This record gives sequence, structure tokens and C-alpha cells, in this order.
Amino acid sequence: MNSTLSNKQVAVIGGGPAGLIAAEAMAQAGLRVQVFERMPSPARKLLMAGRGGLNITHSEPLERFRARYGEAAGWLAPYLDAFPPAALIDWCTVLGQETFVGSSGRVFPKSMKASPLLRAWLNRLDSLGVRVSLRSEWRGWNSDGALVFANGNSFKAAATVLALGGASWPRLGADGGWTALLPDIEIAPLQPANCGFRIGWSEIFRRQHAGAPLKRIALQFNGESLRGEAVITSEGIEGGAIYALSARLREAIARDGEATVFIDLRPDMTLDELSEKLDGPRRGATLSNFLRKSASLPPVGIGLVQEALHSGADASRLAALVKAVPLRLTAPFTLARAISTAGGIARTELDDGLMLRRRPGVFVAGEMLDWEAPTGGYLLQACFATGLAAGRGTIGWLSAN
Ligand SMILES: Cc1cc2nc3c(=O)[nH]c(=O)nc-3n(C[C@H](O)[C@H](O)[C@H](O)COP(=O)(O)OP(=O)(O)OC[C@H]3O[C@@H](n4cnc5c(N)ncnc54)[C@H](O)[C@@H]3O)c2cc1C
Repeated sequence: MNSTLSNKQVAVIGGGPAGLIAAEAMAQAGLRVQVFERMPSPARKLLMAGRGGLNITHSEPLERFRARYGEAAGWLAPYLDAFPPAALIDWCTVLGQETFVGSSGRVFPKSMKASPLLRAWLNRLDSLGVRVSLRSEWRGWNSDGALVFANGNSFKAAATVLALGGASWPRLGADGGWTALLPDIEIAPLQPANCGFRIGWSEIFRRQHAGAPLKRIALQFNGESLRGEAVITSEGIEGGAIYALSARLREAIARDGEATVFIDLRPDMTLDELSEKLDGPRRGATLSNFLRKSASLPPVGIGLVQEALHSGADASRLAALVKAVPLRLTAPFTLARAISTAGGIARTELDDGLMLRRRPGVFVAGEMLDWEAPTGGYLLQACFATGLAAGRGTIGWLSAN
């Protein structure tokens, strides 16, 4: 323990993965750490992620892993290198949560849940002396530089880590309200990431197919093709395959007003193979029976082909249509429904220790920074890596000051 740090009191605002890992690093260095969380319990989004299996990170080579962060890949690299997937996996193991690599290369705890991990983690933090104040909504600073809270309390900290999250699923705590508390800081607009998109379905299609899964499909957009799954909703489409394209789709819609993706309903068959089955005579069969029997399409697939035909697709090239049903996306779903948030505090506002240049002693981490990534464990990995970096940045700054 560093004795120069042991009498210093630091604050972490936000009890999600980024804030808690910063708290852990700082407590291990001997700092007195107080976490403030607005909700009645910490890390609600992490727990929600656990409902879907808690994909904590990914096993692919680090170079490919880093590239998943797109435009932010360059500046995030040192933080990911300092706390790569292997380190996160070790950290889980020490907390009693062994992991495994799924068939897609994604990494999950064997329990497939977040609750055992969080329980063990909170116990460790408690034994390190980390104190957690719940129902404590941070509202900014007073004229003495103390942190102020909605419950009327204030707190003077030698340094502060802000880890307030993005703005998706606001009922879990992170609602993006922090943007108003940092008026002097450049913040890229918060936008939906890993989100669904609106489509103007016909009334009949919506009635018959809202909620239907699209399994084993491929999606094509602007030369990129990927396999996966999606779900029809009453307003459009969502699900893993769509999320993976969502950053590019969102940008295309912002630029052009709409974007067209193409669904391959039979990616396991070539166009020639399908043409043999579909481009011959129908022998009196209705279109839906013909598509069901000859191409083994499920009702939702048949519905999609019919939607496209009603919008003017060429009925004489049925096989080509089944291989590339066009879907016109008109807008992303709202940020509240997205899995994660794009935008946030601009990199130019930060020094290498993730301290706000305009607010010495205030560090930032996690989803409130301006980066985005697809699902696959990349979101949590970057939250842990930047949280740890902010914690270490705080330790370095306090040691030097
Ligand atoms: C349904 C769902 C499933 C997901 N699944 C995965 C997955 O499998 N793998 C993956 O990598 N990622 C997943 N994610 C994303 C991942 O959970 C988030 O990226 C991650 O939790 C963000 O961590 P964070 O610490 O930056 O923010 P958060 O986890 O959002 O934590 C921020 C905390 O700050 C608190 N807070 C906000 N404002 C204030 C304030 N003013 N005062 C005090 N406290 C405040 C909030 O209440 C919250 O607890 C999923 C997200 C969702 C919604």
C-alpha cells in the first residue's frame, strides 16, 4: 500500500462495471474510495446483460479485437492492451467465475449469469474498504468544488472518477443526464448503437409476423454480408445480425434518409440451386404454398417475399428475390431501446490517464466516452479497460500532486 495515498479520499460516481473496476484499482492502491450510485442497487445493466448469457469478452486475436472499435480503435488500443481479454478472463476466474469460449468465439462465465460474479466482486470491494452510497444521484459541483447530490448531501473528494454510462435502457440507471452537468466539455451526440430499425410494414404483414424470428439468414449491406438472426417487430426489425450492421446503417440513414439491406432467406443454397427449384412453372400452386414447398421458407419468409412483391419486386425472378429480399430502413429505434450508446465525451477532452483536461482531478470511463462497438463482449471489455485506466490515472495523478 502507498502511504502517501492512504489518507486521500476519492469518489467514483456510477456503480457499473467501469466505476467498480476503477474503485477496485484505487482501493488496492490504498486510496479511500466512496462509490455513489443513483439506483437502489449497483450494476443493474451488468445484471441485465447477464440475462442474455453475459458475453463478457471475445477470444479472437487482439489485433482483430481492437479493430471492432472502428474509429476509436487507435486511441482505445493502449487501454485494451493494458487490460486485454485474457486479463479480464483471469479476473473473472479469481472471483470464482470460470469462463468458456462459445462456438462463435464469444466468452461467457460458466454460470452464464452476472449475479454470482457481481456478488463476489462486491464482497471483494467491501473487504478492500470501498464504501457504496446507493440512491445518491450526482448533480454536479458546488462553489467549493464539492460533489453535490440530489438528496442534499455533498462530498469533497481529492479526485473523482465519473463512470455514468450511456443512455440506453434508462430504467437501469444510466440515462445520459450527465451531459447537462458537463457544459464545458465537448460531447459527441449520444445515439443508439446495437439497435433495431424502423420499417413501414404493411398492416397485414405486421399483424401476422410481428414477433417472428428470422433464423439462419444472411444480411447484406453495401458489400458487407453476415449470417445471423433477427426478429420482426411491429415497427421494424431488430436482433443480432441487424445490431452488427447498426453503426453503418445509422450513418447511412443520417446521410441519405434511408438505407436498404437485403435478406438472404436461404444462405445455405446458391442462386443456381434455388433457381432450379423456384424459377420453373408453379403448376397452379399459390405463391405461399410454392415458396413453402420448393424453398422451405417459413411463414415469415414468405411474408417478406410477398411484401417485396407488393412493393414492385420482379415476380419472374423469385430465386433472386429469396436470396436478396430488400428491406427499406427509415430510422433507428430510439436510444432507450438500444443495447448501447454511440457518442460521448470526445477523446480530445482527455489526457492519457483519462482525466478531463479542463477539470484536473476528474477522470471518466466506460460507455460515457465516445466509442462504440458491436455486441460480442466488446462493450464490457472496453468498459473494464477504460475503468481500470481511469482508476490508475487517478492513482498516478494523486501520487504526482
Ligand atoms: C440488455 C443489454 C444486454 C447487454 N449485454 C451485453 C453483453 O452480453 N456483453 C457486453 O459486452 N455488453 C453488454 N451490454 C452492454 C453493457 O452492459 C454496457 O456497455 C456496460 O454496462 C456499460 O458500463 P458502464 O459502467 O460504462 O455504465 P453502466 O453499466 O450503465 O453504469 C453506469 C452507472 O452510473 C449510474 N449513474 C448514472 N448517472 C448517475 C448519476 N447522476 N449519479 C449517480 N449514479 C449515476 C447508473 O445508475 C449506472 O448504475 C448489454 C446492455 C444491455 C442494455
